[in-house]
This record gives sequence, structure tokens and C-alpha cells, in this order.
Amino acid sequence: MIRHHLNDALLMGYSAGQLPEAFNLIVATHISMCDECRARLESFDAVGGALLETAVTDTGEVAMAEDSLAQVMARIRQAPPEPRKVQRPEPCLFPAPLRKYVGGDAEAGRWRAVGGGVRQAILPTARDASARLLYIPAGMAVPDHGHRGTELTLVLQGAFSDAVDRFGPGDIEIATEDLEHTPVAEPGMDCICLAVTDAPLRFNGMVPRLLQPFLKI
Ligand code: ZN
Ligand code: ZN
Repeated sequence: MIRHHLNDALLMGYSAGQLPEAFNLIVATHISMCDECRARLESFDAVGGALLETAVTDTGEVAMAEDSLAQVMARIRQAPPEPRKVQRPEPCLFPAPLRKYVGGDAEAGRWRAVGGGVRQAILPTARDASARLLYIPAGMAVPDHGHRGTELTLVLQGAFSDAVDRFGPGDIEIATEDLEHTPVAEPGMDCICLAVTDAPLRFNGMVPRLLQPFLKI
């Protein structure tokens, strides 16, 4: 039961192909787990196509009414698409979009200790944003930090909680500059997340701050 979803800005950016690779990865991974966001994405894809068609007339002039985006958005709101159930393979820790980034050796040495039992594995993406798998042992916490840009965290296994809410499998937390948090993994099961950032985090503790350049976090 997914309760925390992608926002319109991310879905639109993904549909328009304007997100950094790391953000594309996390959006695609959430969509592979979430019928609701997949349906919303399909309507953005349709809108994008419609806008392109109306944007250029026969004479090649741009003829899009100023309020056409507003009209299209109003149309979407009036007629929300039915979530479409698709046949999915057996649940797997790493959904298909993530698998080629993780490779076969997620357990075989790319994990690095971050401190407090937390480990990370940085995934190979373009450098305009970074993607990592985070492994937070049950009951442990990611050090208290703020954000200079946007941080998206998608739960793949287990759950974590912070001051905002509880995030379980499939949930995505969207953290921006106004949020400071200390994500704590729920007792009972280790938590594995995919996290992406487009700017370094702002750690409040001295030790994480010193380690930061080595962790590329
Ligand atoms: Zn969703
Ligand atoms: Zn954060």
C-alpha cells in the first residue's frame, strides 16, 4: 500500500525528458511499483504530445493559446485516469529499472560503511545528480541532516520514519531545502532505500561532515 507518491513536477520533468539520469532512475523505479503514478505519467505523456501538436500550425507558427496548459491541466483534473493494473513479475528487491544499475554484485563489495551501521552503494549515473542504495539496519538512523537541493528517497525493503511520516515499501519521500530530518529504520527489518540528490546534504554532526567528501553524499 503506497501512500507517498511522486509530485507533478517530477512526473512532468520525467515525461519531458528533462530530469538528471539519477532522478529518471528513481522516477522509473517508483513507477514500476506504483499503478497510480504510472497512470498519472500516461496523462502527462498524452498532454506533452497534445501540446506539441497544437504548438505548431501549418505555417510553422507557434499557435498555442496562453492558457492552453491551464486548460489541459483542468482537463486532467476533471477526468483522472483509471489506474491500470499491469501484470508484474514476482516482487524483487530491485525492480527492473534499477537492476541494470545495481548489476549482479550488489552484495559483493560495492557497499561502503557510512557510520552507525548504515552502508551505501553509489550507482553509476551522470554527475549532475547522484544515486545510491542505502542500507539502514533495523532501528538505526541516517545522521541528522538538511538538504541543499532535492533529495528523493524510495523504500525498497523495510520502512523508515522521520518527523514527516512513516515511509514503507514503494513510498517516496521528497525532501527539499526546508526539511531537516533523521530517518530511522523501523525495528524488525533492515531498511533498503534508493536515494538520489542533486546537491550535497548538509550534515549537522561533526563526524558525518568530516566524512562527507569521502562518501560523496
Ligand atoms: Zn506513486
Ligand atoms: Zn535527507
